[in-house]
Amino acid sequence: MQIIHADIVYSEDREHLASHPDSYIAVENGRVKGIWAVLPEEYANIPVTDYKTGVLIPAFSDLHVHAPQYLNRGLEMDLLLADWLDKCTFPMEARYADTEFAKLAYDAFVDDMIANGTMHACVYGTIHSEATSYLLERMDRKGIKGFVGKVNMDRSAQEDLLEDTARSIRETEEFLEKYSSNCNTKPILTPRFAPTCTRELINGLGILGKKYNVGMQTHLVESMWEAEQARSLFPECSCDTEIYERAGLMDNGPVIGGHFIFPSEDDIRIMQKYDCYAVQCPDATISVIAGIMQTGTLLDKGMKIGLGSDISAGHHIGVYTQAARSVQLSKLKNFYEPEDNRKITFPEAFWMATKQSGQLFGGTGSLEPGSVFDALVIDGLSDAARKLLPEQTVERFCYIGTKHNIKARYLNGAKITD
Ligand SMILES: [Zn+2]
Repeated sequence: MQIIHADIVYSEDREHLASHPDSYIAVENGRVKGIWAVLPEEYANIPVTDYKTGVLIPAFSDLHVHAPQYLNRGLEMDLLLADWLDKCTFPMEARYADTEFAKLAYDAFVDDMIANGTMHACVYGTIHSEATSYLLERMDRKGIKGFVGKVNMDRSAQEDLLEDTARSIRETEEFLEKYSSNCNTKPILTPRFAPTCTRELINGLGILGKKYNVGMQTHLVESMWEAEQARSLFPECSCDTEIYERAGLMDNGPVIGGHFIFPSEDDIRIMQKYDCYAVQCPDATISVIAGIMQTGTLLDKGMKIGLGSDISAGHHIGVYTQAARSVQLSKLKNFYEPEDNRKITFPEAFWMATKQSGQLFGGTGSLEPGSVFDALVIDGLSDAARKLLPEQTVERFCYIGTKHNIKARYLNGAKITD
């Protein structure tokens, strides 16, 4: 049992933040036991870790991030998607054939993700099994709850990233076999997106999904270009999402669809039918995709939505920055297309980044009693002339905070010390 004193803030529900100023939280066996303004007598003899002006919040979840592109963050941001893939992304991903290079990059990626308060993540590797295995094992050893995918693509990429279809399926099966019983970081099927996958490949992955009972992450209706490509390459499907549904990829585990910016009614219907997550990646959509998700509308339809850094289409690995950007983008969308596009609130954005997405990883993302205690202490955001309320500190952190404002990190109830 451990007792922590701090201001405590978490999402109560989609619209409301719960705020417990100057309170005590008890953590037992990695889970929150209770929160009190006055410490109960029975805990009087337990030493208290006192963060004084610190605000305790749940750790963040990144539902869409490309680990191999970590080295590209903040570069080539003036290109749009198709050119950016060809000139920036694919040449970098090809370098991960060199596992020693991959180790250097992935060590830095995982460390920076944790430093920025992300304790749960859905991560894309590359087509390379050895490098992607290293990434998964590294995250698993650190205790990160998440999913890592060996990317599949067997058409429309540069020569050294094109897989032979049968080999792609065989290597994916070996990857699933090796890691399916992992406790922290698990494998997930990762067909990159429709333009780079043949029907034969997607059907093969559908068979593996059923056999190993694993879910899928991919990019869905990400741009007008991608949606048109999907329609012309898979003319038998009415929408992008149906390509995966027909292959039986939607009902074996969690399905996480990145971006979901231009969905048809059919895309939305299929995603809701299988309780899938759509992921808004605000920086990425500003920089290389040039489209804005109808976040408010989709939330009102009951869709599950999380946030993604989408390194390196997005440039900042901290998901907290994406909560702020999500609010900003919803206001732009509402200004230019007011019909059916309401602006979202900060509590809604924070909820997407923590409690809503935390459900994917087994009861985390909140500080309610019973939650897995993955948490951060943030501080140093008030002004001498204006002390912020705890919930204001959280909002300001998402807008102007950095990893240096995170004073402590907890994962599975234990403080991270290295
Ligand atoms: Zn992406």
